[in-house]
Amino acid sequence: MDREDSDIRDDFPVLDRRVNGSQLTYLDNAATTQTPKQVYGVYEDFYSQYNANIHRGIHDLSHEASVAYEKAHDKAAAFLGASGGRTEMVFTKNTTESINLVAYGLGLKELGPDDVIVTTEMEHHATLVTWQQIAEKTGADIRYIEVTDDGHLDMDHADQIIDEQTAIVVVAHVSNVLGTINPITELAALAHDNDAYILADGAQSAPTRPVDVESLDVDFFTFSGHKMAGPTGIGGLYGKKHLLEEMDPFLYGGEMIDHVSLQNATWNDLPWKFEAGTPPIAEGIALGEAIDYLEDIGMDTVRRHENELAQYALDALETREYIETYGPSSGTERTGLVSFNVDGIHGHDVSSLLNAQGIAVRAGDHCTQPLHDTLDIPGSVRASFYVYNTTAEIDTLLDTLDGLRDTLP
Ligand code: PLP
Repeated sequence: MDREDSDIRDDFPVLDRRVNGSQLTYLDNAATTQTPKQVYGVYEDFYSQYNANIHRGIHDLSHEASVAYEKAHDKAAAFLGASGGRTEMVFTKNTTESINLVAYGLGLKELGPDDVIVTTEMEHHATLVTWQQIAEKTGADIRYIEVTDDGHLDMDHADQIIDEQTAIVVVAHVSNVLGTINPITELAALAHDNDAYILADGAQSAPTRPVDVESLDVDFFTFSGHKMAGPTGIGGLYGKKHLLEEMDPFLYGGEMIDHVSLQNATWNDLPWKFEAGTPPIAEGIALGEAIDYLEDIGMDTVRRHENELAQYALDALETREYIETYGPSSGTERTGLVSFNVDGIHGHDVSSLLNAQGIAVRAGDHCTQPLHDTLDIPGSVRASFYVYNTTAEIDTLLDTLDGLRDTLP
């Protein structure tokens, strides 16, 4: 990292915590990252200085809150390379809500029985369940791009199933279980050659690597603040401006309207048309601060750090015959997360035994039950890293796993 690792860790006081008598080793970042002082400091500043509803008051506090909240949209747009600025950046609660917004705002309106939704076997339930619902409501069909044995999308299969019937391709930019970085540009070309839209689920990519939605050529891109050093309760949807303009709102009420009569209503400008009611104002401003924080480190640096930790963990895990890992074997083909199983110990037991030593990992299906069915395993343990993690923490994980192994008969 360009900034000293210790310097970065100082920004995250929670990392000094002890859990069950041991120093915390926090390796559950693909679920939620920790939040630096600079970001949660926004709450004190906001609530002590300019807490007010936005866009509704002529007074100074409302103006200050409105400007800060609007600027956060511009920051998020710039962070993802969206040249349309705030007009292409809708704030939502999280990735799940962003996917639902496209599903209901566009899918429900445009899809019918002759259409096909293409997604993949490695998707998060946020995609699978949402688009299954749209298929059920519209009569559209769903096809799934298969996953190869080495944890990549089978692009020959993608080529076969993305055809002129395809209306939309919905795909994770990065798998939250395999860590695989999917070839979004190639999938976008396939989708667009068939006049289909493409939505990239960026929940795991926006936090971990530089993203440029325009060079990826995606129509929609979704992300969650709590996975990128930001707070919970805020996420985003990038959409190409002309598509957001054509889409129906997903939620109705105050803020999202231009004019209301007793007969009907017209919609506000982008992005407010999609932000009904009082939005998460402090959260949005804090998300902007999280983006400043990550940009200060540099997203290329974040990516390099993720790759290095992934490779370090993979190399060490793969030398242990009692461990099975999943996903690509190269650290540069994935982000900083490794899912694995320990021979003879159920994942939940592994996680709870690690927790007893202060190590936080995740065990279960990680909201990807169909992928676990494909891998033919009931679940997995996932260690995931972020900007503040170190190889020494991975060593702590490995030593503790070796210790668990030694207790087995
Ligand atoms: N998509 C992927 C790939 C994820 O990893 C996650 C969260 O783990 C989600 C979607 C859903 O994110 P959220 O729970 O913030 O809506």
